[in-house]
Amino acid sequence: MTDWAYFQEILLDFSHSGQPISFWWREDDVACDSKNLVIILDLLLKYKIPVLCGVIPNLLTNDVIQILKSHPNSIVCQHGLNHQNNYTIDYKCEFDSADSLGALIAGRIMLKDIFQNKFLPVYIPPWNNISKFFKGILLDNGYVAVSGYNYSAMNKRTYNVDVDLIDWNKSESFSDDSFVMKQILQCFSRKDFNVGIVNHHRTIGIEGIKFIEKLLSETCKYSNISWKIPF
Ligand SMILES: [Zn+2]
Repeated sequence: MTDWAYFQEILLDFSHSGQPISFWWREDDVACDSKNLVIILDLLLKYKIPVLCGVIPNLLTNDVIQILKSHPNSIVCQHGLNHQNNYTIDYKCEFDSADSLGALIAGRIMLKDIFQNKFLPVYIPPWNNISKFFKGILLDNGYVAVSGYNYSAMNKRTYNVDVDLIDWNKSESFSDDSFVMKQILQCFSRKDFNVGIVNHHRTIGIEGIKFIEKLLSETCKYSNISWKIPF
């Protein structure tokens, strides 16, 4: 049985048992690369799927602003300020101390001014790295939620993604269909039926885009599966 046949069989089983499943989409590093961004947003729009866009305030171009504004499914969130590593090679992180709060809030205000109601004050830390301490500071200062990576860190007002389309350990691009399906099936096996997926349009490539189209078309066949923002 192929990976896809197995995956389809699992979805069919959940459909028969009526198990509700929610997926949600996060698109990171939204700033200046417009070509693939349009492809991904169009694809998600075709299936009426909302997308949390991790926007880098200081790298944002006018082209990308227009793309985001013209896609009703895009929800703008903040992804750092410059996406610059201020820590070590082993702990890549842009901000993790109270000193940086003012700079981050300035970026948030800028995004709010540009995007108005499309902006949601959710902080997506670059490289998904943030300390519990700094997260608490952000949540006390106008951010409604933080979104990182790793299900084990889930708690109140933290909405982490579980599935990464990019294989950072190998090629830093889309690796293959089974790499992603395996992560989704791992969520199901631990009875996590609210599955967050993160993508990087900059590096996803043609094979990755084909996979996304198939994933969306397969999951949208079933009435027990929905795609929605988790908060
Ligand atoms: Zn990033």
